[in-house]
Amino acid sequence: MTYSNNNVGEKSINTFEFRSIGVISTPFKQKFGIPRQSQAISVATGTIQFSPDINPTNACRGLDAFSHLWISFIFHGNRQGIWKDTVRPPRLGGNEKVGVFATRSTFRPNPIGLSVVKNGGLNEHNNLVVEGIDLLDQTPIIDIKPYVHYADSVNHAISGFAEFAPKQKMHVEYSKLASLQLNTLASAYPELQALLNNILEQDPRPAYKSATKDDKIYSVLLHNFDIKWQVRDTINYVLDIEIH
Ligand code: SAH
Repeated sequence: MTYSNNNVGEKSINTFEFRSIGVISTPFKQKFGIPRQSQAISVATGTIQFSPDINPTNACRGLDAFSHLWISFIFHGNRQGIWKDTVRPPRLGGNEKVGVFATRSTFRPNPIGLSVVKNGGLNEHNNLVVEGIDLLDQTPIIDIKPYVHYADSVNHAISGFAEFAPKQKMHVEYSKLASLQLNTLASAYPELQALLNNILEQDPRPAYKSATKDDKIYSVLLHNFDIKWQVRDTINYVLDIEIH
């Protein structure tokens, strides 16, 4: 990632280069449906595969004493260089504009994301397991730091338009077919139903859709499944779960 400003000679003093320390594998194969903050979806698990030049045993020594971590990553799924200084956060219904720095928008001058995740430790392949993620599959990770309770958690902090976690807007129901399919998949993907419930309860549709009648069949990709669902009043109704 490069950001250039004030070019002085060959390289700007404001230009920095980073490399990824690894990539994360997650169930989210497309941006649609990914929760807007990491802790909203505690069942979503990812594994970070470290780059060959990083020795996970050394670089993560002592990390298992921390229950939570900060991970910094690159919004690699966005077209780079596209950002505006004002954005319309979905939490404000998609109408009101606020400054990009007053939001967690993924379109920023530097496409860097920051998420708090639960530390699941190194697995048998020396990949770091993290839980409660909001990242697209194969997102490049640029740093990992321990979450430090006394320093990182601020009592009585005020959070503007994001003061409260989004309400659970919808109920989730399954067709007979989808229930059968989930049962068949339960041993290989034990968290699939909880993940799907989490995603659909929050209504991943664009804000304006919830105000209008909507009989569209939506699709969300999780793991290697294409999950079809439809809105019925306040219910998100899962129709079918197919291999993608
Ligand atoms: N907690 C992070 C991310 C918040 S935005 C932060 O505050 O910086 C979360 C959204 O980022 C998700 O809804 C998803 O659509 C998007 N996202 C996740 N990984 C991405 C990636 N690699 N590229 C582009 N967008 C991504």
